[in-house]
Amino acid sequence: MNVNEKVRYPKDEHLTILRVSEHAYLIEDDRNATAYVVTGSKQALVIDTCFGYENYKEVVSFITDLPPIVVNTHAHRDHCGGNGYFEKAFIGEAELPQYQAMPQHLLCTSDTPPLCPVEILREGDEIDLGDRKIEVLAFAGHTPGALCFLDRTERILYTGDSVLGRTIYLFMANSVPVSQMKNSLLHLKEYGNAFDRLATGHGHTLDPVSYLDALLDACDTILAGSPAARFGTVNVQGRILPCCYYTGENGMKATLIYREDLAK
Ligand SMILES: [Zn+2]
Repeated sequence: MNVNEKVRYPKDEHLTILRVSEHAYLIEDDRNATAYVVTGSKQALVIDTCFGYENYKEVVSFITDLPPIVVNTHAHRDHCGGNGYFEKAFIGEAELPQYQAMPQHLLCTSDTPPLCPVEILREGDEIDLGDRKIEVLAFAGHTPGALCFLDRTERILYTGDSVLGRTIYLFMANSVPVSQMKNSLLHLKEYGNAFDRLATGHGHTLDPVSYLDALLDACDTILAGSPAARFGTVNVQGRILPCCYYTGENGMKATLIYREDLAK
């Protein structure tokens, strides 16, 4: 595959694979999940495993023969549901309760294998792909123990559901307060000269890095409670929740949905 070339995965019409850079492939499941394969000289990093409808080990070997290291940005079923196709995965420590409590019936099909065991990754850890190392950054926000992965060589930050230019859910049972998410964003900005693009957990392509500043501004807006024009409400499966709008440099309007008790 050439960079920017997109192919349909031959065994599942729901999956497409887009080569987003020299060493990175975006796997999109059109049932609303996005995962990545990042290749090095000795190993491949698999960032998230979508729902698990498809045998992800086979999907990865369709892209590369390199042995895979599997990591999860966080413990939601659209990001770790396919873990059972691998022997082990790595995840942030504060995600463990959610991961271990994930009921098998939430996994998508009767053929989907149970989730594999996980080991812990922490802020500052590095994942050695042979010719380069991928850095692990912690991001408390959407979930408390979410991880981002920084590839300085390709200047890409992999963000899962923590930072994206669409909709961010900051109303999960274990989401953190807006002020804490703001601190996480400020922490990412310390690395801001190391990446230009965001590879997010839901999307057809990479997002511009300007969403970091746009989200910071949304957090400040929520904490200040104004201006009113930036706020709205969203119906999420029958729950009416407050939201704050933000816009990235590509002009696409995005939404940070939160809970009133986290607006502090
Ligand atoms: Zn999520």
